[in-house]
Amino acid sequence: MILLKNSNDLYKLIDSQRKKGKRNGFVPTMGALHQGHISLINFSKKENDLTICSIFVNPAQFNDPEDFEKYPKTVEKDIHLLEAAGCDILFLPSLTEVYPDQEETVRNYDLGFLETALEGKFRPGHFQGVCKVVHRLLDLVKPDTLYLGQKDYQQCMVITRLVELMKKEKEIKIVICPTLREKDGLAMSSRNTRLNDEERKKASAIYLAMNFIKENYKNDIILAVKERALKMLTETGFRVDYFEIVDAKNLTPINSWNSNKQFVILVAAFLNKIRLIDNMMLD
Ligand code: AMP
Repeated sequence: MILLKNSNDLYKLIDSQRKKGKRNGFVPTMGALHQGHISLINFSKKENDLTICSIFVNPAQFNDPEDFEKYPKTVEKDIHLLEAAGCDILFLPSLTEVYPDQEETVRNYDLGFLETALEGKFRPGHFQGVCKVVHRLLDLVKPDTLYLGQKDYQQCMVITRLVELMKKEKEIKIVICPTLREKDGLAMSSRNTRLNDEERKKASAIYLAMNFIKENYKNDIILAVKERALKMLTETGFRVDYFEIVDAKNLTPINSWNSNKQFVILVAAFLNKIRLIDNMMLD
């Protein structure tokens, strides 16, 4: 695996490979890698000549300074995992490589309803920060295919929108990969390493609550099922930001079952100081 820290080096290397007709797949991450990230690398490896991973903890997308400061960093282990997975290039830039021009005017991405719904509402500015870094990385890598995890459902919608705003939807294919879970159902996440033993045991309640909805929503009044699932979370000790069953296309909450539409359960909740997010599609 080639490790690059300089954006010009990255740009030149990928450009030279592209000129040789090599297709490239890109997996942007914030590091503290786990098997969920590696599953994205595996998808890319199957479909491309060249797989590129980036690790950059992007300050622009953290609305809570403590969350940024405490974000887990395990670079040595990440490098080993990526090498073992057969990743071709790791881009590990510093802040100034990603944002060389500190004076640049702040761009505002028109994200429509995504800006204020759910994650957007609870983490103001977060998705603008996501767009800022992904825009820069896409300009550098110019991937044929971008691999994202369904774990960050709304983020997938935001990045799809960003690619449209960049007018690159014909050039960049987006592949959304399934969420990898621990044995008890907890979605793998870099933030899980910050859970203590007691919190870790409780954390699977998110999965259990979503599953409860999935198993019961067709047989009962949907809002009643949701209330019971929400209680499962709060009684476990979660402080819930949102727990919604929404239209998978536009994130508007639903009150009754409609078989013509695709629905998704979206959750964000705190166990003490650790905020976890997850989602589950309803068929
Ligand atoms: P992050 O490092 O958390 O920014 O995640 C980098 C990419 O990995 C994003 O596209 C995430 O959605 C994806 N990802 C994170 N956790 C998982 C998981 N448990 N399963 C699959 N993909 C994931």
